[in-house]
Amino acid sequence: MSWHATALTLFPEMFPGSLGQSLAGRALREGLWRLDARQIRDFALDKHRTVDDTPCGGGAGMVLRPDVVDAACAAALADGEDRALVYLTPRGKLLDQALVRELVAGPGVILVCGRYEGLDQRVIEARGMREVSIGDYVLSGGEPAALVLLDACVRLLPGVMGGVDSAAEESFSAGAGGAPLLEYPQYTRPVEWQGRAVPEVLLSGHHAAVARWRREMAERATRERRPDLWSRRDDMRDGVAAKASAG
Ligand code: SAM
Repeated sequence: MSWHATALTLFPEMFPGSLGQSLAGRALREGLWRLDARQIRDFALDKHRTVDDTPCGGGAGMVLRPDVVDAACAAALADGEDRALVYLTPRGKLLDQALVRELVAGPGVILVCGRYEGLDQRVIEARGMREVSIGDYVLSGGEPAALVLLDACVRLLPGVMGGVDSAAEESFSAGAGGAPLLEYPQYTRPVEWQGRAVPEVLLSGHHAAVARWRREMAERATRERRPDLWSRRDDMRDGVAAKASAG
């Protein structure tokens, strides 16, 4: 059975969207992964197909009803696969490459796409949903976030990307220190462009020197641009050293 993604959404026509193109699109057509988008409104309990109501305690906007979303989740889970149930929300844990790898290792995902002010907290808790954010900004709906999460997952599925090495080397893959680094800068031909030359070492044919240069560049970029990632490396190193001295 191929990796299976279900989006629970008020806008099923937003899928596959960009995932119907390029590598992900080809993989979808070849059956390397499956995608279905289900209309949450189909699980409404009244003849007006109501999916939302006003927030308890007052305030602007509307909130998605727990009973309706619960019924949509139950239908998606009925296929029997033990898939991760994820609610996309700015209140969630930040999506990172480690979480992407974890989701790819399972049978697939069910993605609940919020709208309005979001989803009633009780169904999040009752269903044990994993709350995941794609960044510290607010989108108008969970669908673009679901597409981002799926794109990150699908490219790691076996057979989707040509070069296995590119996934191993790119940004956020764990370096030798065990913690993620940003990737080194990339260059291609022409060797000279608008007075800017490709760094000589990359043309030297000296593999060890190239690897050393790339490592230095990756470390510099991470230190300068992402001090949070860099300090995680320090923490991991300290942890390893502490373990070694205790043992
Ligand atoms: N009232 C919510 C808050 O302040 O946290 C924002 C609701 S937002 C307008 C509507 C929906 O968009 C959310 O329920 C969620 O599904 C989705 N969404 C918005 N920003 C997101 C983000 N950064 N990551 C993941 N999903 C997001």
